[in-house]
Amino acid sequence: MVIKLYTPGHSLYTDTLMLYGLACSLLGEDKKALNNVSGIGGSYCLEVNLNNYGDIADHICDFVDDHENAIKTALSSNLTSLRDRIDVFIQTLTDVNEMTNYLQTLSIPGHSRNEGRGKHGTTIPLPLMPVAGKYLHKDLTLTSKFTPSSYNVCNNCLSLAALGLAEAAISIRARGQWSVVIIVIPFEGNVSPLYFSEFFEFKFRSSENIIKKLYANDAVNQIPVKVLTRLVFLLTDKTVLRSMSEMQAKWYALSVLLTGRANAPQVRGMVDIEISSFIRNLSLLYEKNVNITEIDRLLFFLASKGDVSALEGLFTFISNRDLRRFYQFTRETYSSIERWRKDPDPREKAQAENAAKCFSKCRNIAIELLC
Ligand SMILES: [Zn+2]
Repeated sequence: MVIKLYTPGHSLYTDTLMLYGLACSLLGEDKKALNNVSGIGGSYCLEVNLNNYGDIADHICDFVDDHENAIKTALSSNLTSLRDRIDVFIQTLTDVNEMTNYLQTLSIPGHSRNEGRGKHGTTIPLPLMPVAGKYLHKDLTLTSKFTPSSYNVCNNCLSLAALGLAEAAISIRARGQWSVVIIVIPFEGNVSPLYFSEFFEFKFRSSENIIKKLYANDAVNQIPVKVLTRLVFLLTDKTVLRSMSEMQAKWYALSVLLTGRANAPQVRGMVDIEISSFIRNLSLLYEKNVNITEIDRLLFFLASKGDVSALEGLFTFISNRDLRRFYQFTRETYSSIERWRKDPDPREKAQAENAAKCFSKCRNIAIELLC
């Protein structure tokens, strides 16, 4: 039997978190409970191969029981504003009866109609819904009075979004101050469970290593969120990139920069970029046996120096194959390496020498993408 679940329609970011929260629970060991997922206009419809909503609630409960410690660690390490609520999330996700009733309300689109600003429920925190921030509904040019009210949702929506944040969001911290970039991956079109399997495998196996290197190079403070986001995808496993490029879907990256204090974060930036052609061409490079992660030392070097223009040149070239942007990348990179090679600090000099060793490999990227 196939059951359909529609995400509530709270916002693209929140619905995407909830989709991934449901998907990780439904993949399970046999990987057969999740069928096709379609994304339309910021919401998703999941087709689930189970007999009833109680079975779906059982899957969520089992997943959370099995991964409780990892979920707690993920939610408390990067985003301590959620720390106080973690027990409520776990309790809600493992209450099978309550979850079954909730899932039944997702059998038709529009669960969010009874939730929102000024409605009943719990105030949703910014890491789970950045557009709920106060600044978005304060317009000082208007004379009419509009009382800001919080965006409220039910505990089930809140907890599924938190599960998605723990399992699927890529969170990169800044050094020296409390700042974090959270990246989620929405899509429009049809996506099979294969993508979700590959993505969660990547998230579990190798994303932490990439995040550590970006932290070590202070990428959050040195380069804009838009550039940082593409850098993350460039460093993503080839299996994930291949599965994304094989789907009948348009891919996006939705990135949010939160700063301030951990227990009272503020949204300082939000970008939504389409990454379909970027992903497709990265995957094409792997098909042609060009391992782009071999130039990672060069990319981390450019990121640590804040060489935005060089990185943008490379990323735009990979997206649209415009050779002028590759020229921009090589010119800027060459001058950056030469500048830092002359630095009196031996560490800076060594870093530039290491980056220079990768530089020659970039030629292959251009040749393979243009042929
Ligand atoms: Zn709800």
